[in-house]
Amino acid sequence: MRRIYLDNNATTRVDPQVLEVMLPYYGEVFGNPSSVHGFGQEAKAALDLARQQVAALLDAEPNEIVFTSGGTESDNLAIRGIIEATPGTSKHVITSKIEHHAVLHTCQNLEKAGIRVTYLPVNREGLVDPEEIIKAIRDDTLLISIMHANNEIGTLQPVREIGQIAKERDIYFHIDAVQTAGKLPVHSSDLDVNLISISAHKFHGPKGVGALYVKKGTRLRSLAFGGAHERNRRAGTENVAQIVGLGRASELALEGMDTQGSQTTQLRNWFEKEVLNNIPDTSVNGHAELRLSNTTNIRFAGAESEGLIINLDLAGVACSTGSACSSGAIEPSHVLTELGLPPEEAFECVRFSFSKDTTQADLMEVLDLLPVMVDRQRSMSSPGNRAYSMIS
Ligand code: PLP
Repeated sequence: MRRIYLDNNATTRVDPQVLEVMLPYYGEVFGNPSSVHGFGQEAKAALDLARQQVAALLDAEPNEIVFTSGGTESDNLAIRGIIEATPGTSKHVITSKIEHHAVLHTCQNLEKAGIRVTYLPVNREGLVDPEEIIKAIRDDTLLISIMHANNEIGTLQPVREIGQIAKERDIYFHIDAVQTAGKLPVHSSDLDVNLISISAHKFHGPKGVGALYVKKGTRLRSLAFGGAHERNRRAGTENVAQIVGLGRASELALEGMDTQGSQTTQLRNWFEKEVLNNIPDTSVNGHAELRLSNTTNIRFAGAESEGLIINLDLAGVACSTGSACSSGAIEPSHVLTELGLPPEEAFECVRFSFSKDTTQADLMEVLDLLPVMVDRQRSMSSPGNRAYSMIS
């Protein structure tokens, strides 16, 4: 059976050119980059190159890049690192209700330690209103953390405007660019940001490695105690092979960004139009234009999406819902419910996310399968028959 992967916002295939440069670092090049001898210096040179490659992707200085274990750690380090580096007891953070759990759960945890957090709502298209940010700012507001693009619906936030608001008021600004870095330009030099989180596996690099851009002069406390690695911002021996992969993936993403961006936009728009035209009662979630070029989140009214994606998977097609399984119950996506979808509608949505590996032939196969599968799911999804009824 041919397998078709349309879940690239979850993760992407490692590019063979990335894997190739990583392999020696699992073999003959094994030095510790902190060692002064030749073995160590060889590893250190690889880290230096990767740091330059990541810095180029973010239009930053190499010493503004801190390597981490991925997007989750970068988000944690950005938020907790700023809070802990700043003296005083009264601290306030502003974020949105549709952030990734790496940000939301970090903020919720900080609340237990007495940090105040404002979670801003979004409109029907998933946009944060900069005016709401201005209204939420208080004397003790220390940090604004807003995602660049949402992983489920792809909506792009007005980060330029928010950055200006933060800068004028001397507030730190963090963007979670895990879904945008490598797909569209994320230039630290153009944006008034202090911190940017990125993750290699979202742009054809390996899993378990990422980076945090920390603007020169931004005080950040390391979360782990130990050595002085990463200029005292992240203790622990660097994961050299993975970082080498992150560097090469950054370089390749930068080289191919324009071509890949227009390729995925074209395929996504065509696929979306075909679905909307050929399957009745379908609609797209998120903003029509201010959106990641590779993402479409479609509601198939009356068809429960959990069943739909299982049947698609059995036919070799991988895509996803934003539902989460918590304590044995399936919960609707917090992103979709924040857009205003009632839970039963949020359970009818499927995310298709494309990459440079996606072809028109793949999508034609999916378009052949979908109408029949949606029909079948609709006939099975009577209200008493749905998985979400487990919640109550
Ligand atoms: N932030 C966003 C917006 C994401 O989409 C993800 C992963 O899906 C993360 C953070 C976490 O990244 P990682 O998987 O590298 O920990």
